[in-house]
Amino acid sequence: MPRPNLDPSDLEHFERAIDNGSWDGGAAMSSCAKSSTPASCYGAICAGKRAGDSSKQDAWALPHHARPGAPANASGVRNALGRLPQTQGLINRAAAEAHLQAHMKQIQAASKPPAGQPRSDGPPRANLIRAIRDGVALRAAANGASMPTLSGHLAVFNQWTEIDSIFEGRFLEQLAPGAFSQTIKEDRASMRVLFQHGRDPQIGNKPLGPIEELTEDKTGVAYAAPMLDTSYNRDLIPGLEAGLYGASFRFEVLEQDFNNKPERSDYNPEGIPERTVKSLRMMEFGPVTFPAYAGATAGLRSLTDEFIFAAFLSDPERLRQLIESAPTSAALSQVATLSRKAAEGQPHSHGESHSDPDRPAPLVVIRNPNRRL
Ligand SMILES: [Zn+2]
Repeated sequence: MPRPNLDPSDLEHFERAIDNGSWDGGAAMSSCAKSSTPASCYGAICAGKRAGDSSKQDAWALPHHARPGAPANASGVRNALGRLPQTQGLINRAAAEAHLQAHMKQIQAASKPPAGQPRSDGPPRANLIRAIRDGVALRAAANGASMPTLSGHLAVFNQWTEIDSIFEGRFLEQLAPGAFSQTIKEDRASMRVLFQHGRDPQIGNKPLGPIEELTEDKTGVAYAAPMLDTSYNRDLIPGLEAGLYGASFRFEVLEQDFNNKPERSDYNPEGIPERTVKSLRMMEFGPVTFPAYAGATAGLRSLTDEFIFAAFLSDPERLRQLIESAPTSAALSQVATLSRKAAEGQPHSHGESHSDPDRPAPLVVIRNPNRRL
């Protein structure tokens, strides 16, 4: 029976140059389906094996080479690693992970900048939050139901947004149509609808309701979630009716186009870096309070500093890891200043640890001192 080509001592497999081109896993898989030896083709491009007929696509997962003998594709490897926890039915999970991690080492080694120069592979990709002001509406209860349904667009496509964040840096970002299609298909069952990303001290990470609808349309990503009949949901309704909340989602970038030095243009007069997110993994979404400075205009905003960075600041070990992986030295000095201010200004947490991800960390609002109003 053909097996994936997973031997980490297979130097040839791991010494090929990395393919930094765009990635289309679906196309790679269907070209194997047309091959005269499909089983060995799948085995040469995939890291994941499932039980069943090896000549069938269903028996394989986690493709990351465009074709047999091709170098690993960097986006394909990141995509496969991001997807590994959700991939069902693997009979070689540990070996698949080791294989992908070996490629990841290769990718990181290849993208290491010369000493003293900033990283060139762009801003952080994991633990990011985007929010949209007019993203939450209440729809009247369906007949018989006592509670309304949350609905709206949690993201919009093809709209350049300036991200100006201590954690992420400053750049323009847009979401490409199709960026959510894979995560909607594969991760919807594990996604939750949460209030304040699970950080509200009263509600914590209790789900607001099931996901009834989650689809990409021409505008962006539309969702609907009927609210559960609970006391914490009833407490939220007046604020929701008054339009006090935006919609927000937490995600990880799986595939992107990153341009560190774009031409100046009407939408980018300063020529700051540009990122187009082509595929992402969304973990949860839901209503959030919009910070006053985030402006009244439509479009997405980054709330990564408010939610993710704040959690780092309350956890010295994670902060240390963040500092080690910080994208720029400017960010480093800001981290140092902020963590000192946080230590001086925050009341002590009585020895509580916030390392448990299920436990809501206190919401500390941090403003980027460089953010322009
Ligand atoms: Zn490989």
